[in-house]
Amino acid sequence: MSTHLYEKTASELSSLLAEKKVSAVEVTQSFIDRTNSVEEKVGAYLHLSPDYSLSLARESDQRREKSQTLGPLDGIPISIKDILCEVNQPLTAASKILEDYISPYTSTVVQKLLNKGSVSWGRLNLDEFAMGSSTENSAFKPTRNPWDLRCIPGGSSGGSAACIAAGQSPLSLGSDTGGSIRQPAALCGVVGMKPTYGLVSRYGLAAFASSLDQIGPFARTIDDIALLMQVIVGHDPLDSTSVDITIPNYRESLKDSKKDWVLGVPKEFFTDGMDLEVRIAVEKAIDFYREEGAIIKEISLPHTDLAVPVYYIIATAEASSNLARYDGIRYTKRVQETKDGIDLYSKTRGEFFGSEVKRRILLGAYVLSSGYYDAYYLKAQKVRNLIRQDFNNAFETVDALITPTTPEVAFKAGEKSTDPLSMYLSDIYTISTNLSGLPAISIPCGFNSENLPIGLQLIGKPFQESTIMKIGLQFEKSHSFTNLANL
Ligand code: GLN
Repeated sequence: MSTHLYEKTASELSSLLAEKKVSAVEVTQSFIDRTNSVEEKVGAYLHLSPDYSLSLARESDQRREKSQTLGPLDGIPISIKDILCEVNQPLTAASKILEDYISPYTSTVVQKLLNKGSVSWGRLNLDEFAMGSSTENSAFKPTRNPWDLRCIPGGSSGGSAACIAAGQSPLSLGSDTGGSIRQPAALCGVVGMKPTYGLVSRYGLAAFASSLDQIGPFARTIDDIALLMQVIVGHDPLDSTSVDITIPNYRESLKDSKKDWVLGVPKEFFTDGMDLEVRIAVEKAIDFYREEGAIIKEISLPHTDLAVPVYYIIATAEASSNLARYDGIRYTKRVQETKDGIDLYSKTRGEFFGSEVKRRILLGAYVLSSGYYDAYYLKAQKVRNLIRQDFNNAFETVDALITPTTPEVAFKAGEKSTDPLSMYLSDIYTISTNLSGLPAISIPCGFNSENLPIGLQLIGKPFQESTIMKIGLQFEKSHSFTNLANL
């Protein structure tokens, strides 16, 4: 039996608030207290402002007193990856170059949440500019995996996943360019979803790779993901890639009890590089669906092995262009002793960008440079189309794809930090959906023999978030993997 408020899901808290059994201040205080007791071990946050959060919670309670509640998220705390603007709050993107930056405006997603009464609670650690898979590339500190503090939480949204697993926040937001929501969700045993490209506005997100970046939710349950999705989706004229489509009622659609799905298993994802215990857990999940009445179909995504190289051309090219704005003149800190403009620019970037960010800028500038553009960048765009086509073909005969989220469970801190290539390979199952713009969710599907979580990925057709949530819920309801880590 749950005894503390911080142990409850957002939907449970929402009901308690609606029944006036608890106040938003009590709820918020419970997460503040929990964070005070575990944050030293986990290190999920870069910035905490309990007074600000409590003042939002008080406003929520006042609204409820007057029966002016703004919906199910009114009074529910949410933590934000430190790459999304909120006015008058710091935004570092875990980079020294933005160490002193204070946002002059609020991102669309955060504004939508504030408009619905959510309590903004803390800014979460990440790999610098969302480049990484372990949160060890943060310029400020590493975040640890709440299930085993010797291990990494995944990345780049490591703080967003860890805070949920540790009970420091019921909900959080992250961003996913090549797996940064799903991979940490899998490694921390929580639910994380990358929505379809264009479904969630990115206005106010510090851009990494604009043709790939998507913002998405983290929570302990799929019902909570649906709650949060409902608020953050929708067309935004401030983001030209944002699409204008009819938004379903996600929570309502979860009530549908369909079970005879056709689920595709991509044979290229089940290779020798996959950890045996991960394979066993995922195969057990596939068996579960089969027993429940689904048709399981082996399918082929023949260009899977090209996804990682293509991603590291396209993502770095876009990053080199997006990060050109951090020039020591606008936004950022600057080196004081400089001869001229170029010197200021190069010394500032040299001093304040971390090594992974520099590596990406160099790679990106190289693949875009004249003479190499056609050989690398253009060719990568063509292969990207082939990868997209593979998914289109598969989706002619299946409702969704079912795969592992990651090839391995969480690894020990420091184990891969000197080997960028092996780090890049940890996103092998997540990257192709970013290249194709598709929605995908990671849900917990078990633990290995060392009690480290394993994630199952469901990939859907464009804008079929409801379908993958429904399929995921079927599994979630029959298993009990939604607990908090013991800390
Ligand atoms: N790990 C991948 C990278 O380092 C993906 C990061 C992300 O999705 N932001 O680029």
